[in-house]
Amino acid sequence: CGICGVVGRRHATPIVFEGLRRLEYRGYDSAGIATLVDGRVERRRAAGKLDNLAALLKKEPLPGTTGIGHTRWATHGAPTACNAHPHGTERVAIVHNGIIENFETLRSDLEAAGQVFETETDSETIALLVDYHLQQGLEPKEAALHALRRLEGAYAVAIIFAGHEGLMIGACHSAPLAVGFGEDEMFLGSDSLALAPLTRRIAYMEDGDCVVITPKGAEFMNFDGVPVERTIQLTALAA
Ligand code: GLU
Repeated sequence: CGICGVVGRRHATPIVFEGLRRLEYRGYDSAGIATLVDGRVERRRAAGKLDNLAALLKKEPLPGTTGIGHTRWATHGAPTACNAHPHGTERVAIVHNGIIENFETLRSDLEAAGQVFETETDSETIALLVDYHLQQGLEPKEAALHALRRLEGAYAVAIIFAGHEGLMIGACHSAPLAVGFGEDEMFLGSDSLALAPLTRRIAYMEDGDCVVITPKGAEFMNFDGVPVERTIQLTALAA
């Protein structure tokens, strides 16, 4: 139900966690965070309140400067830790808001191609679709664009890739997503409220936008990879 992501120079987990706190007002039933630790995808997920995730993170800290987080409002699959986002493999982690309408078709195609699902969610199809294209040898951006072109429904997603510190890809269709511009760090959030303590410089994504984010900035494009311009706005002063 809420997304927050960061690439930059500081410890990602506390920044992402604080963003998730600011998205609590939307309601949620579980939550999770993924970061890159020495280039590897690591995830922590918990059912219930953010306090449960905080307790887990205390026991099993999550270092790294590239991270994504999610508060989930389950639509497909029970609100368990296993079904909580981020979903992923050793190659990729994703968080998703919304519903993938054609997930059953995608899931059976992916299973036929040998991909193994661990959850009951529609969202995991995004992770395994991107993973499939990475396995075929595509670079992260191309793998993401290939996957995005197959998705039907309403969604906002954030994706990070093993071995690619400082890279995050976002995309949305019929669901909001905002890009926050910092100093040598960049953010993604479901709304400007999630990013309010981090930056006032926000670009709102439009339907069918994909964004490639590094600590130095953002490149916006459509799902065919054709560049589009999105302007940075100054939000009202942070609460
Ligand atoms: N449909 C997804 C799920 O059930 C995402 C729900 C959400 O937006 O939180 O996991």
